[in-house]
Amino acid sequence: MSTTPPLARVDAWAPEAGTERVRAAFTERFGTDGPAPGVWSAPGRVNLIGEHTDYNGGLCLPIALPHRTYVALRARQDDVVRLASAQEPGSGGVELRLADVAPGTVDGWAAYVVGVAWGLAGQGHRVRGFDAVVDSCVPYGAGLSSSAALESAVAVALDATFGLGLAGPVDAPDDAGRTVLAAACVRAENDIAGAPTGGMDQAASLRARAGHALLLDCLDASVRHVPFDLEAQGLALLVVDTRAAHALVDGQYAARRATCEAAAASLGVATLREIAPDDLDTALDRLAATSEADVAEVAVRRVRHVVTEIARVEAVVALLDADRVRDIGPLLDASHTSLRDDYEVSCVELDVAVEAARSAGALGARMTGGGFGGSAIALVEASDVEPVAAAVAWAFVAHGFTPPAFLVATAAASAH
Ligand code: ADP
Ligand code: MG
Repeated sequence: MSTTPPLARVDAWAPEAGTERVRAAFTERFGTDGPAPGVWSAPGRVNLIGEHTDYNGGLCLPIALPHRTYVALRARQDDVVRLASAQEPGSGGVELRLADVAPGTVDGWAAYVVGVAWGLAGQGHRVRGFDAVVDSCVPYGAGLSSSAALESAVAVALDATFGLGLAGPVDAPDDAGRTVLAAACVRAENDIAGAPTGGMDQAASLRARAGHALLLDCLDASVRHVPFDLEAQGLALLVVDTRAAHALVDGQYAARRATCEAAAASLGVATLREIAPDDLDTALDRLAATSEADVAEVAVRRVRHVVTEIARVEAVVALLDADRVRDIGPLLDASHTSLRDDYEVSCVELDVAVEAARSAGALGARMTGGGFGGSAIALVEASDVEPVAAAVAWAFVAHGFTPPAFLVATAAASAH
């Protein structure tokens, strides 16, 4: 094992390049007649810590990625929507009417686009039809939220195109308005695309700030921008896209949600957020006594993950506030252990990536996103990015896994 396997890097496009690309694709698709389209873009995200906490009214701490989804969009006078995406060449473009959009009526990727228009209409905003073309450098299905990047890009595009006045100007984003846009995107994803996600992704894509992590309180959707400038500290956040695809992801996600909701109900709280870390043992004892032993045993572990994970978010934020970034490593490690053993949403590829990164000197590493594949993150000294990536790539070779892809995450700007 002397030479390094080739490292697949997923670099973010320069904004001008992404804009040019999607504008050219629009012209190719819809011709040069009529007014030029506007171009908007929105980032994918990576969550530093706080996993599977959003639907429990908890805390999470994502950053927006420099990797963005671009949309070129032009209003129509009728309620027809025509769409194409460079990432979905096989779909050959989609055409439908907004009046026909309702839960269960839209298949495939178009649901993430027209679902946003439907979500905005449901809030009382007037949105007409549009022509749109999408292109993106956010890895697909990698746990980096290409879905929220698409929704959020469409949300700010529709906001500007139909004069909804929600997003605010680039240099002075309107956080309250963006919270409304994020809610429309969540409706799109939950009700039209049929994916029961919790709200972190859309908040990160629409409300994060460059150079900061977004502390999101999912109980009331309030946020705080926590300084997060790794470069200044000589550090880097390496993201490993395991490219592992596991079936049953949606079913597992829904099952975790259902377990948490049932546990909260049996403990007499609205969400698991209400269980303070100091009361955890008492709550777990009560939970253990409420149902049959095997059901209770699982519920106990799920609740323990959620409550301890929320506490870890608070601990990480305290360290970041104290300018002690290097010290968050053990909390990242503990988060992974909790997700692997108590919440059972990791998989062998994620575990191997995390172990290999740590052995090669990462200060901390964990799976990120929903799990069962997707990505892992490793906090590393800037000079260790290459060796840690190489160690992970080697470990994947040794296990016979599909080669992973790598990207270096910096806290980038939200949708505009
Ligand atoms: P993730 O959000 O982690 O990348 P998801 O399964 O939530 O994974 O979302 C991926 C889905 O979102 C794709 O299968 C597709 O339907 C839709 N999507 C995301 N980005 C695009 C894009 N650029 N063009 C078309 N569809 C997209
Ligand atoms: Mg998604």
